[in-house]
Amino acid sequence: MEQKEFGVEIEIESIYRPCGAGHQVGDCCRIRNVDGALKMEGFDGWCPELVQAVLANCSVLAHGGSLAWEDEQGKVRSACPDGACRVIAAIRRIPQEHQN
Ligand SMILES: [Zn+2]
Repeated sequence: MEQKEFGVEIEIESIYRPCGAGHQVGDCCRIRNVDGALKMEGFDGWCPELVQAVLANCSVLAHGGSLAWEDEQGKVRSACPDGACRVIAAIRRIPQEHQN
């Protein structure tokens, strides 16, 4: 049967200008998927606007959906709405067996 539940990893991929949250390229957090229940890990200090922008996409990917702008590796990019800093986060599915 096709797997329908995934964890998700979020990683800061690029920053145009330093943002108020102090994000750095490579900052990482994740969402574990425990039998369909999503558990956010490592979000302390993350920019709330960026988190708001990525969460809906994370939810889709965690529950086996897809987004039209995924690249060939299944990676999606979402941006903080702060257009001056242009913080871009990459979001990737993690198979359940690789979540830990
Ligand atoms: Zn931000």
